[in-house]
Amino acid sequence: MFIELVDALRCPVAHEESWLVASADRMEARHIVEGTLGCPVCRAEYPIHRGVVDFRRESPRRLPPRTAPDPEQAMRLAAFLDLSDASGFAVLVGARGAHAPLVRAQVDTPLVLIDPPEDVEGEPGISVLRCDGELPLAAGAARGVAIDGGSPERVASAVRATRATGRVVAPASTPLPDGVREIARDDTDWVGEREPLPSPVVTLHVRRAARG
Ligand SMILES: [Zn+2]
Repeated sequence: MFIELVDALRCPVAHEESWLVASADRMEARHIVEGTLGCPVCRAEYPIHRGVVDFRRESPRRLPPRTAPDPEQAMRLAAFLDLSDASGFAVLVGARGAHAPLVRAQVDTPLVLIDPPEDVEGEPGISVLRCDGELPLAAGAARGVAIDGGSPERVASAVRATRATGRVVAPASTPLPDGVREIARDDTDWVGEREPLPSPVVTLHVRRAARG
């Protein structure tokens, strides 16, 4: 796991959003190969083994079947997610992760794979996470997220993890979630844009101050 990704990871336990503390037993280049992520709020510890961070606390979910990397799928993902530069990182969820090495062959954007097929491993520029349901990412951390379906909770967490105006890609059969504006669709996928977040908290504070 790429060390700089730690800033974007969050404890998946239901409590106030908390960053995690990384301890590395073995590093290669700037990747943690063996180590632990610890939560300072609930004291949960998440192991990093062979570069893969494991956030699972329930019985492991079924991973998508092995899929041969497909150049056309990789090209679609790079275009749909608008991976035109190396800033930030993009997330590929589930079976989409199979195409990650071919995406990286086309673009410089670092990729984070969540629950890819079992045989997909991390490499420079590609980090692998496994989790239960909701994605263990800070709100707005990713420049774009491509999901392969999943529960409404998982879809909602993917939207939450995408920065404002970032791209969300999902199978055509997935209902368009709240907070996403559809910009393109074909028989296989839709491409949406994360709507800018409203800032009601600021407005409330101003009103209260004015009243007092
Ligand atoms: Zn925690």
